[in-house]
Amino acid sequence: MIKLHDLEFEPFLSEEAIQTEVKRLAETIFEDYQNKKPVFVGVLNGAFMFLSDLMKHYPGDCEVSFMRLQSYEGTESTGKVKSIYGLEELNGKDIILVEDIIDTGNTLVEILSQVQQTKVNSYKIASLFQKPDVYSKDIQLDYIGLEIPNRFIVGYGLDYNGLGRNLPEIYQLKA
Ligand code: 5GP
Repeated sequence: MIKLHDLEFEPFLSEEAIQTEVKRLAETIFEDYQNKKPVFVGVLNGAFMFLSDLMKHYPGDCEVSFMRLQSYEGTESTGKVKSIYGLEELNGKDIILVEDIIDTGNTLVEILSQVQQTKVNSYKIASLFQKPDVYSKDIQLDYIGLEIPNRFIVGYGLDYNGLGRNLPEIYQLKA
């Protein structure tokens, strides 16, 4: 059991179980990109640890890039994604968008609306986790690690109000 701020979390997925899944995803992606050099594009901040391990397990040539979402409306932060930095250098590339977790899919919709305005050669979506009970979009998710119940998780890049990203395992909010 661990405590972050005011909440308690219990173990959900071991470091070993995560690595097994990440390796499987890397090998699956490699099979689809045999004659290409994909660019793994990490969606900051949550995906940084997954992205790093995914690349370490990837057995072929690949590149890395990052994108960061910015949310604002006038002077007020709304949580809604308004612009994305870091897409310019991807023209002509085969990119794989790397997300930590896909929940409602709202973030993904915003990202794709901007990616579609670029001149990337192709794009696919990879996420370590997905919550199928909450996902309400029509967008095909190409590479999904694990489908999980609708519980709040932390660790391995995922935070609760800034804390927990450094944990090598995944924890879930105590019921
Ligand atoms: P969506 O836009 O798909 O609803 O949410 C995606 C983003 O919400 C993720 O990239 C992540 O930052 C955050 N998120 C969704 N579910 C969880 C969760 O269980 N734990 C944490 N720490 N963040 C989550």
